[in-house]
Amino acid sequence: MVEVPRISVPSVPISGSELKFPVRRIYCVGRNYADHTREMGGDPERELPFFFSKPADAVVFSGWRLPFPARTSDLQHEVELVVGLHRGGTNIPAVDASSMIYGYAVGIDLTRRDLQAEAKKTGRPWDMAKGFDHSAPIGALTRGLPPASGAISLTVDGEVRQSGDLKDMIWSVSEVIAALSTYVQLAPGDLIFTGTPAGVGAIRRGATVRGMLVGAEPIEITFEL
Ligand code: MN
Repeated sequence: MVEVPRISVPSVPISGSELKFPVRRIYCVGRNYADHTREMGGDPERELPFFFSKPADAVVFSGWRLPFPARTSDLQHEVELVVGLHRGGTNIPAVDASSMIYGYAVGIDLTRRDLQAEAKKTGRPWDMAKGFDHSAPIGALTRGLPPASGAISLTVDGEVRQSGDLKDMIWSVSEVIAALSTYVQLAPGDLIFTGTPAGVGAIRRGATVRGMLVGAEPIEITFEL
């Protein structure tokens, strides 16, 4: 009889520690900066935050060389503040949400934009556009609460593509946690990608992509040719 497969829990490095943060689930916010909402054709005044998810084992770490994703000719970058939770719950009031946060990091919500556009057009799920292998690069977690303002940016082959400020988030991290916890029970090990500023764009084969965030270690990944 064959053996039951053994699998390991994906885990994220923690700055200044030998410990690692185990990943339970990865949630993402759809539109959370007014300039990006506009560039995607939305109205930032009227849209409530919405959520999607990626598999926990989609995390990849700084220094990795990644195969170029299959089934896309429009792979795009979205640099985002990511928070990791050490506590959870349902219907968490926004005033209590910051006490759930273990730390924060910079992440890249990799997106197969052509598949996403097709899914939007046909009313189909986003899973294959957002939740593919290696779709959640994330830097090491900095312990503590993320700053409410400060630079978040991304370069491709050294050229600045995205340059934003955390203060321009439509929904604060606490409001995101509160809203998400009305849909699902949050728990220790959950990561939340909190949305991207404007400037999303295509990544070519062979490109090196670097995400930077105030107070956090950068994430840098390179795609194979
Ligand atoms: Mn995103």
